[in-house]
Amino acid sequence: MTDLLPPLPAEELERRFADIAPPLTPDAALLEASKCLFCYDAPCTHACPTHIDVPAFIKKIATDNLRGSARVILDANPMGHSCARACPVEVLCEGACVLNDRDEQPIKIALLQRHATDYALEHRLRLFEPGRANGKSVAIVGAGPAGLSCAQDLRRLGYGVTVYEAKPKPGGLNTYGIAEYKMRPTTALAEVQMIADLGVEIKTGLVVGRDLPFTDLERDFDAVFVAVGLGATRGLGLPGEELPGVFEALAFIEYLKTHPYADTRVGRRVVVIGAGNTAIDAVTQAKRLGAEHATIVYRRGRGEMPAYDYEYELAQRDGCEFRFSTAPKCVIGDEWVTGLECIKTEPGPPGPDGRRRPVDVPGSEHVIPCDMVIKAVGQAPRSEFARAAGLVLEGDRVRSEKPHVFVGGDCMSGGAEIVNAAAEGKQAARAIDAFLRGDG
Ligand SMILES: Cc1cc2nc3c(=O)[nH]c(=O)nc-3n(C[C@H](O)[C@H](O)[C@H](O)COP(=O)(O)OP(=O)(O)OC[C@H]3O[C@@H](n4cnc5c(N)ncnc54)[C@H](O)[C@@H]3O)c2cc1C
Ligand code: SF4
Repeated sequence: MTDLLPPLPAEELERRFADIAPPLTPDAALLEASKCLFCYDAPCTHACPTHIDVPAFIKKIATDNLRGSARVILDANPMGHSCARACPVEVLCEGACVLNDRDEQPIKIALLQRHATDYALEHRLRLFEPGRANGKSVAIVGAGPAGLSCAQDLRRLGYGVTVYEAKPKPGGLNTYGIAEYKMRPTTALAEVQMIADLGVEIKTGLVVGRDLPFTDLERDFDAVFVAVGLGATRGLGLPGEELPGVFEALAFIEYLKTHPYADTRVGRRVVVIGAGNTAIDAVTQAKRLGAEHATIVYRRGRGEMPAYDYEYELAQRDGCEFRFSTAPKCVIGDEWVTGLECIKTEPGPPGPDGRRRPVDVPGSEHVIPCDMVIKAVGQAPRSEFARAAGLVLEGDRVRSEKPHVFVGGDCMSGGAEIVNAAAEGKQAARAIDAFLRGDG
C-alpha cells in the first residue's frame, strides 16, 4: 500500500516554491552597486569561468544603464540570466569579492546580475545581432547551456546554426532540472528565446542517434558541436531497487517542474540516497512538497559530502535530516517501499583515488522506515550516444577525435555547473570558427 500524502493547498505550495533570492528593488540595486570598489584586475571576474567583467556591469547599473549592463553580462555569458539565479556564487564571484577580506559582506553580484538581466528579459531587448552570413553551417546536439551558448556566439559570427534537442522544450537542465525555488522553466525558456531571436533554429523533440543519424549531421553541416549533457541517474545496485516507491532524483525533479506542484505527491517519510547538490535539491523539494521527514543517507562523513556548504545549510533550514556514515543495503517493501535497510560505516583504507573508503561497522544494521526512496547518486554518461556517434568515452567523459566534431558541457566535463557549460560552449564556438576559417 502506498502512503503518499495528499497535496498541500496550492497557495502554500506556491509560497514554498517562491524565489529563494527575490529580486532587488531599483533603489536597493543602486545602493548595492554604489558599494562596489570597481577593483582593477577584479578577483570576482577572475573567479567567474566566463570572466564576466563584474565591475563594468555593476558600474553601468550605478549609472542607470541597465541595457549596457545586461550587454556586458550576456556578451561574456549567454546564460547570464540563469547564472544570476542558480550559480554557486558563494564559491565563485562573491566568494572572491575583496570585501570578504575586510570582514564585510561581499557585493551581491548575483542579485545585481539578475537586476540587469531581468530588465533585458522583461523589455525583450535585442542586445546582439547575427553576423554577416558566411555561408557555413553548424549543427548542435543538445539545447542546454553549453549548446545554446555556442549557438549564440556562432550566430554572432555569421554561421547558420541548427540545434537538435531531444526534449519537447529547449533549455536542458535549466528548464528541467534546476530547483524550482531557484529558477522556473519560464525564465529558462525566455532566456532561450533571446538566443533563438538571433536566428538560431531549434528543433525540439528530435533524438539524434534515434530519429536522425549522427552521420546525417556530419554530412549536412560543416561542423557539429555535441552538448548532450549527462544521462539518467545511476542505479544503486541494491536489492529492492525496482520496488514501486523508488524514484530517480532527476525524474522526480523533472516531474515537479513540468506539472502543477500539487501533482507531485510525496511520502510521509522520504529518504534520499546521495549527498551531492542534486540530492540536496531532491530532499529540499520533497520537504517543501510536504514530506514530514526528508532524510539524506550518505555513506561517508559530513566533511566528504560533495554538496556545497550553503546547499547543506539550506537543507538544514528546510528541516531536512542527515544520516552520515550510513550505507544503504536493501530497499524493503512488498507492493511499495516500507523502509531502507542500512548499516553504519567508518573510514577504511584508502581506495585508488586516495580517499579512505567507507567500511561497514558489523552489527550496526538498522532500518529507516520510509514510503519513498529517491536515488541521487550522480548521472551516468550518454555512452550509447557517444558510441553511435563515433566519439571516445574516457570514464564519464566524452571526447572527439574527429576534427569537425567538437564536444562541450557536462558530457565533456563529467558534470559541473551552468556557468562551466556556458564557458565551454563559448570555447567550442571559438574552436569551430578557427577550424572553419582554416586556422584551427
Ligand atoms: C538536478 C540538478 C540541479 C542542478 N542545479 C544547478 C544549479 O543550481 N546551478 C548550477 O549552476 N548548475 C546546476 N546543475 C548543473 C547544470 O544544470 C549543468 O551543469 C548544465 O545544465 C550542463 O549543461 P549542458 O548543456 O552540458 O547539459 P544539459 O543541460 O544536460 O543539456 C543537454 C541537452 O542535450 C539534450 N540531448 C541529450 N541527448 C540528445 C540527443 N541524442 N539528441 C538531441 N538532444 C539530446 C538533452 O535533452 C538536454 O536538453 C544542476 C544539475 C542537476 C542534475
Ligand atoms: S571584487 Fe567585489 S568590490 Fe571588487 S569589483 Fe568585484 S564585486 Fe566589486
